[in-house]
Amino acid sequence: MTETYAAGTDRYPADAPASEALFARARALTPGGVNSPVRAFQSVGGTPRFMVRGAGPWLHDADGRRYVDLVCSWGPLLLGHAHPEVVAAVQAAAAHGTSFGTPTAGEVDLAEEIVARTPVEQVRLVNSGTEATMSAIRLARGVTGRSKIVKFAGCYHGHVDALLAAAGSGVATLGLPDSPGVTGAAAGDTIVLPYNDVAAVEAAFAAEGDAIAAVITEAAAGNMGVVAPRDGFNEALARIAHAHGALLILDEVMTGFRVSRSGWAGLSPVDADLYTYGKVMGGGLPAAAFGGRAEIMARLAPAGPVYQAGTLSGNPLACAAGLATLRLADDALYRRLDATAGTVQELATKALAAEGVPHRLSTAGNMFSIFFTDADVVDYDTARGQDVAAYRAFFHAMLAGGVYLPPSAFEAWFVSAALDDAALEVLAAALPVAARAAAANGGSTR
Ligand SMILES: *Cc1c(COP(=O)(O)O)cnc(C)c1O
Repeated sequence: MTETYAAGTDRYPADAPASEALFARARALTPGGVNSPVRAFQSVGGTPRFMVRGAGPWLHDADGRRYVDLVCSWGPLLLGHAHPEVVAAVQAAAAHGTSFGTPTAGEVDLAEEIVARTPVEQVRLVNSGTEATMSAIRLARGVTGRSKIVKFAGCYHGHVDALLAAAGSGVATLGLPDSPGVTGAAAGDTIVLPYNDVAAVEAAFAAEGDAIAAVITEAAAGNMGVVAPRDGFNEALARIAHAHGALLILDEVMTGFRVSRSGWAGLSPVDADLYTYGKVMGGGLPAAAFGGRAEIMARLAPAGPVYQAGTLSGNPLACAAGLATLRLADDALYRRLDATAGTVQELATKALAAEGVPHRLSTAGNMFSIFFTDADVVDYDTARGQDVAAYRAFFHAMLAGGVYLPPSAFEAWFVSAALDDAALEVLAAALPVAARAAAANGGSTR
């Protein structure tokens, strides 16, 4: 681990030659060299590491380095990398054929598992979280005959046109205004409100409640960094929406099967009408879903008139990986994840406190973020108040110390059940150095 960086600068020396060479080739072939924006390291600077292998809690890059992985593919890898039972399930499925374009038993098994664990009565499988939220919104509009959608600033629901307004994740990381290419017609039906602000929701419904098809919210926000809903916030959304004949869509793409057997609804049940899932339920392969009460789902084609389809939906490999993952995700596993998250949080906050770095630990079950600020973080504005330069220095020092954190200050940290003592030792050794780097880059009150 020889990487060093100059305090107070945005330039980090490239001492990852293989990743550097791959990134140069990639940049010539695809915009920014990546297939999803936050991977590009744009907000933290430097060269993204090209990974060649994952094993348990470890990521291995093309330059022969090993990192403790606290991103876990942005959430899906609940069991860590290449869990033997997941790998075996995928191999067995692949040997029988990769796709049929017909119904298969694996889809029924996965749907049964999802219905058994969550509040949904029926589910439709899709390929990505974006497709799940897009389809849930179409269904909500089809069922209510209304067009407007309420979303919250800093919440990310995938790159659906109507939901890109004031979105979190990469949109927040890159500081983008609303995306060019989204038409006024697509965005005009979206009402964006501050997160955790019940009065704003009441006012919006008082003004145009008759036109609102649905409220969509992250079950617990994770895409502006982790910001849990205030007590009663999600319940208020259900109450207000229902009083006006609108639906509540609880987006559990990040939280689903991650923070409990079910998701956020397992920790804090709420009377939502539609739920969206993704990430963990695919076990590292592309699978996602949306679901709800049978009478609402019955409006979906071919049972009903609201159209939705997908060539690879319910793909046998993705269903096998998802099912193998969920079957291993029992109560004991969630207890382990909670305990591990607590350990990582304690190590990190102690190291930052020792250097006088202002920070706020923000948790939602076993998901968490550390914001580099001394102000409470309750919504997108307060999340944006953090010291991004301090995070950048912290991130690079952690990377040099063999820990892979999200390359953005606006993302959740994820633990896997594979995070063991050896990985925690690497983490414990890297943190004090990184805390000093954050302190040296503006993040200190001393
Ligand atoms: C990741 C995410 C999505 C989008 O899922 P993709 O599979 O990336 O399209 C939607 N909603 C939430 C809450 C997410 O975290």
